[in-house]
Amino acid sequence: MESYILPDRLCLKNARLIDPALNLDQVGDLLLERGIITSVGSVSASGNTLSWNLNGAIICPGFFDLHVHLREPGNEVAETIRSGQESAAAGGFTAVAAMPNTTPPLDQAGVVRWVIEQASFFPVSVYPVAAITRGRKGEELTEMVELRQSGAIAFSDDGSWVLSAEVMRRALEYSLLVDAPIISHAEEPTLSKGGQMHEGEMSTRLGLPGLPRISEDVATLRDLMLAEYTGGRLHLAHVSTSGALAALEAAQARGVKVSGEATPHHLVLTDGAVVGYDTSTKMKPPLREAEDASSLWKAIKSGVIAAIATDHAPHTSEDKEVPYDEASFGALGLETAVALLWDHGVGKGLLDPFEMVRRFCHGPRAIVGLPIPALKEGAPVELTVFHPDEEWQVDKTRFYSKSVNSPFVGWKLTGRPWGILKGQRWAGRVEPKF
Ligand SMILES: [Zn+2]
Repeated sequence: MESYILPDRLCLKNARLIDPALNLDQVGDLLLERGIITSVGSVSASGNTLSWNLNGAIICPGFFDLHVHLREPGNEVAETIRSGQESAAAGGFTAVAAMPNTTPPLDQAGVVRWVIEQASFFPVSVYPVAAITRGRKGEELTEMVELRQSGAIAFSDDGSWVLSAEVMRRALEYSLLVDAPIISHAEEPTLSKGGQMHEGEMSTRLGLPGLPRISEDVATLRDLMLAEYTGGRLHLAHVSTSGALAALEAAQARGVKVSGEATPHHLVLTDGAVVGYDTSTKMKPPLREAEDASSLWKAIKSGVIAAIATDHAPHTSEDKEVPYDEASFGALGLETAVALLWDHGVGKGLLDPFEMVRRFCHGPRAIVGLPIPALKEGAPVELTVFHPDEEWQVDKTRFYSKSVNSPFVGWKLTGRPWGILKGQRWAGRVEPKF
């Protein structure tokens, strides 16, 4: 995918402009001049202004995915920083946070700076999340202050829970010093050992060992208690159980500094999707049951869960085209997330458009303290464009990701991202027309 340099003056015509922070939802035009929004609403284009008719596409402040695995360095066959950025642009994300479980892991300032440098050639911003512990081994804290200064926006040993409560306690204490959250992958490993899918009726029927809810609930409760005790900043990745949600909501009500995210696959799918043993349905935490998904929708609507994050986890066919119990955990997310939330969330009345934009844009940025883009005069251009009525079918031969492990292949969806505007550039799956 190439990115396009925009003309010095570009008028985006006939768009639906949505910005919940400004209480804006209207059909109109947007004038962009050299990377700055200079007019919102009705624009009378003068002689040297080029126009692009968006035919009713939605323009909103740029979406940010707080949880993405880019696989570089170390597993460039599955994804590279560039292919992940292209996948993000195609999915309508102007920025992503890159998780540290690469080879080597993001546990040293040099690697963090290298990722930022590699990402600087394409309009999607990549914000590294550094490891909490050296080598993600759970033993010794990384140099968190130095990592933060080199550009890390948060800390996580994602993929593993920090087993030692003492190490997690100190990480949370440091979170105050470095002013960045500690992201927990809440999975108590002795309870989840050997598990392949959610433990319940379906796992019994399919004959697969279970990953029980209690593994996530126990780990979540410990981390909430440590956050409360230290006053540190905790963020819960991919919350998937009703129990973890209830604990999160209660902790927030007590004033604990804790936030949470949910993935589109945990919202839209249940463990019933595992029936055909499609390894794209294998991930951690596993697809749960209908009651968990319905609690998640409520938490997204109320804001207890402030961010939708994809946990985009590319894997090669070598790691996925194997028997279910041998396959790696994880599923693609970047190119289907916006359409799934629009179609299955807004389309079914579970969310309104403002709530959806907040969970994709404002919520995740607030968690890590990034500036929030806006649709107002004088604001820098950082915008997501998607068409709310476009019907399409998810086709694995057309992913921009280097991998194809999506549980949504073959799904028909209404609403489709076109791409992103960032500074004076456009990147996306649609070619700009002006
Ligand atoms: Zn995780």
